[in-house]
Amino acid sequence: MVTPMYVTKLNRLSMDEIDGLIEKSESLTGKGMCCPRKCGINRQTHCTPCGASGKGMRIASISRHMGEEPPVSGENGACNVFFSGCTMKCVFCQNFPFSQLNNGREYSIDEFCSRLLKFQSRGVHNINLVTSDQYLAAVLKSLKQLKGLLEIPVSYNCSGYHTPELLSIVDKFADIYLYDLKYFSDSPALKYSGAQNYPEISQRGAEFILKGNNAWIEEDGILKSGVIFRHLVLPGNIDDSISILNYASKMKTEFNNFRLSIMSQYFPAYKAAESASFPELKNKLREDEYEMVMIEADRYGIDGWYQELDAQGGC
Ligand code: SF4
Repeated sequence: MVTPMYVTKLNRLSMDEIDGLIEKSESLTGKGMCCPRKCGINRQTHCTPCGASGKGMRIASISRHMGEEPPVSGENGACNVFFSGCTMKCVFCQNFPFSQLNNGREYSIDEFCSRLLKFQSRGVHNINLVTSDQYLAAVLKSLKQLKGLLEIPVSYNCSGYHTPELLSIVDKFADIYLYDLKYFSDSPALKYSGAQNYPEISQRGAEFILKGNNAWIEEDGILKSGVIFRHLVLPGNIDDSISILNYASKMKTEFNNFRLSIMSQYFPAYKAAESASFPELKNKLREDEYEMVMIEADRYGIDGWYQELDAQGGC
């Protein structure tokens, strides 16, 4: 095996530093202070809004995934860990069986670590943690066991809805961020995801990670370090997407490590498919809607990736 040139953040941390991060993360997850909802609920005794319970972690699947952006999936794929539950309440979530209905099962730290190492031995390019905020303490305990064994980067695949306290911990071990910028305005954020202050919170977090130690580093076309922002275009919400592009164009002038991935893969799922409350979300994105977004993206000259219309999870 060729020794990678990029040394991951995890392998640059000392054991004492990891212990400090575990302690901090336990103080957030143990008190229900790990996302902007700050539910304050003790997960040992009560249900939390995000679905977290107990001391361990609940996971729906761990598998090789080819559908991320090309430098993330590469030829061998990412090892995607889909955690059960989510801090967001998106009515159109394509992963709703586990993100909203909490399907999955408990994993011990030993089992989790051994699965990740198995995927590493099969050549995946990174470990892609998908919406793991609610299990941050357990994730960190696992990373402690993996220090020195896991050589591939850790990718934090997240909603953009995070507290500064949580992001300051994550930033110590996440080499890659796949960070959603779902909404520019408060109204769709509340209506579709029940997320108070999402625009302000997601933009504050975006600036924090761009200012941090997250330079864009690729080796042989594979991403080792960097931030990819993602925006899923929603039917009937083109103005909000265009506002995101305008925001992206400003960020691009300020941060040379800014990259945006525009996604067209929306299809009506979960409540969007069933409820009469969201008629605008009942259909897939129209060609003319996506065309308007593409024209604006070209006009702003934004670096990144544009998904083809009708793509199903690929970039
Ligand atoms: S992540 Fe879950 S447990 Fe933590 S504050 Fe949010 S809803 Fe509560």
